[in-house]
Amino acid sequence: MQGHKAQGAQGQLDMEGALTARDRVGIQDFVLLDTHTSETAFLGNLKKRFSEDLIYTYIGTLLVSVNPYKELDIYSKKQMDIYMGVNFFELPPHIYALADNAYHTMMAEANNHFILISGESGAGKTEASKKILQYYAVSCPSTTLLDSVRDRMLVSNPVLEAFGNAKTLKNDNSSRFGKYMDIQFDIQGDAVGGHILSYLLEKSRVVHQNHGERNFHIFYQLVEGGEEDLLHQLGLESNCQHYSYLVQDECANVTSINDKNDWKTVRNALSVIDFDESDIQHLFGIIASVLHLGNVQFEADSKGYATLNKNTELRWVSTLLGINVQVLQEGLTYRKIEAKTDEVLSPFTVDHAIYARNALAKAIYGRTFTWLVNKINDSMENKEPSRKTVIGLLDIYGFEVFYVNSFEQFCINYCNEKLQQLFIQLTLKSEQEEYEAEGIGWEPVQFFNNKIICDLVEEKHRGIISVLDEECLRPGEATDFTFLEKLEEKMGSHPHFITHKLSDKKIRKTLDRGDFRLLHYAGEVTYCVVGKVSHGLSLLWSIIHVYLTDKLLGDSTTDPRPSSLLGLTDILMSKEPWYVRCLKSNESKQPGRFDDVLVRHQVKYLGLMEHLRVRRAGFAYRRRYELFLQRYKPLCPATWPHWRGVAAEGVEVLVQHLGYLPDEYKMGRTKIFIRHPRTLFATEDAFEV
Ligand code: ATP
Ligand code: MG
Repeated sequence: MQGHKAQGAQGQLDMEGALTARDRVGIQDFVLLDTHTSETAFLGNLKKRFSEDLIYTYIGTLLVSVNPYKELDIYSKKQMDIYMGVNFFELPPHIYALADNAYHTMMAEANNHFILISGESGAGKTEASKKILQYYAVSCPSTTLLDSVRDRMLVSNPVLEAFGNAKTLKNDNSSRFGKYMDIQFDIQGDAVGGHILSYLLEKSRVVHQNHGERNFHIFYQLVEGGEEDLLHQLGLESNCQHYSYLVQDECANVTSINDKNDWKTVRNALSVIDFDESDIQHLFGIIASVLHLGNVQFEADSKGYATLNKNTELRWVSTLLGINVQVLQEGLTYRKIEAKTDEVLSPFTVDHAIYARNALAKAIYGRTFTWLVNKINDSMENKEPSRKTVIGLLDIYGFEVFYVNSFEQFCINYCNEKLQQLFIQLTLKSEQEEYEAEGIGWEPVQFFNNKIICDLVEEKHRGIISVLDEECLRPGEATDFTFLEKLEEKMGSHPHFITHKLSDKKIRKTLDRGDFRLLHYAGEVTYCVVGKVSHGLSLLWSIIHVYLTDKLLGDSTTDPRPSSLLGLTDILMSKEPWYVRCLKSNESKQPGRFDDVLVRHQVKYLGLMEHLRVRRAGFAYRRRYELFLQRYKPLCPATWPHWRGVAAEGVEVLVQHLGYLPDEYKMGRTKIFIRHPRTLFATEDAFEV
């Protein structure tokens, strides 16, 4: 990406007309929002800009984005060119500006970066991450060889969305998994490879969908769009109504979704990422087996135990997966209990058998998804041993509160809690600590530190996950109730943990005996531990789940515990952060509607006001004295070509010469702190004079 200064300046001129009408378009960086930093002023500014289709606003280098729910003409190649290589604050805020800035900083400092995109469901995270990826794919220097890597990176999106996204009440294309993608750049700045990590796929959706929601897109795409031959080989009817996993809520067809067209896109995309015919057969054979499995019905014998009478569907599952039909049948209707010397087969009731069937379907789908991600990674892998730096994109699904919240929501919300903590650590906390370490006079800003909630979940021997682990090690003895009792014993009067037993009369009315409630940073969520099994992954059931998948699939990659998230935090901690905070403008997905209450709530829990306060009170830029001097010494006769003394003194001489006002900068122990970017831009511009 070369600098396009002239074009950038022209772009700025084009915008200038608009910018003079400041009242109309609001302020493009909240840090500059005159005297007050009230929430009302903040929202007023967002709303004003939104009404002019200006969906992006900065808080320093953090980008706030408000979902417009309509196509805006701001993502063209021409727009990309305008933003290439231009100083961050010189043009109106844009996701391209953030992408470009991250890229140029990576190139200049030869280090790794990540862009954390957060916000609730439907706020625009996935769209934002796609825009960033497109920007890198289109704007980076290219060679024919690399074009193919780039194509693969781009087409990985529709494939993963087909298998990992679904229509929910909140979003017709909701990501039901978390995605972290590293884009690798070589020393020349070419995008040369990619790698994806996926997290927390919502497997329960395969067997159950809430009212008004759908299963993963791929099922409908295959059934609606699959070629006759293929469907025939897979034993499928070309009608969604035929499959019980697809019609639970009678919303197989959604106007905003065209499954037939999407099927074609996915098929093409698969060929770009090197799927040959046998891979495709294999992949869709497995997807079809899940649909057949969903149609397997059980009947009760005279003792109430599950039997399989008509098992055409089971035969299809057996053929497509290559598992002996007898083994399948036994696995779905009996539980094997290993006593000291023997194995005893204990028959399932019909309810247990249905549960076992669903557990198998979820496990199969989960493993297929993992396999798919691995295949995509193989195709994007860059095997050159040369040095590479990366920009990671994290699009993980936001905080969730349903009517009944199960273990899956618990994992997702814990993950969001961890990411919020990372944000706090990397911005609010570290910022303030740095001022302290550098001896910069500073009025601390109060913020809510959610560490207390993270500890509640993850602390060794005491946290919720530890208690669950312990209980899982006591098969036969542990039950959902003992799990809950243990939690109550360990958590006691923790201010963020409430159960029926631990609460007062008023709150007790709102809780079932089998629930516990966590007061997350973003709000309260009640989790169900006991009963409601069709929805929740209760302890007892999780044991059956693991047992069954072990037996049939030979390993237990289906472990639902969020241990992999701890790895994610490590990955992120080693990189420089950039943030995109996505806000949802309204619940009804309507273009142009800005719901004040809804946006206010998001601004609050995303900690945007605290971030703004720290930013406003602080300094936008800081550079080590040596680096600052190295860069700007040509601008002052006293420092050029060499400054022989202490670097800090050289910097002082330099900034005096450049005419910095006392309020614009501060000298710390090892670094210079510059309050506003415009000061630095003026210095950069001095090179051109
Ligand atoms: P989830 O957590 O459910 O995955 P999300 O935050 O990823 O939600 P998206 O899928 O990115 O949400 O966005 C939801 C919808 O909002 C998109 O399908 C699109 O219609 C609209 N949308 C989001 N961002 C934009 C944008 N920048 N311009 C136009 N429309 C947008
Ligand atoms: Mg998404």
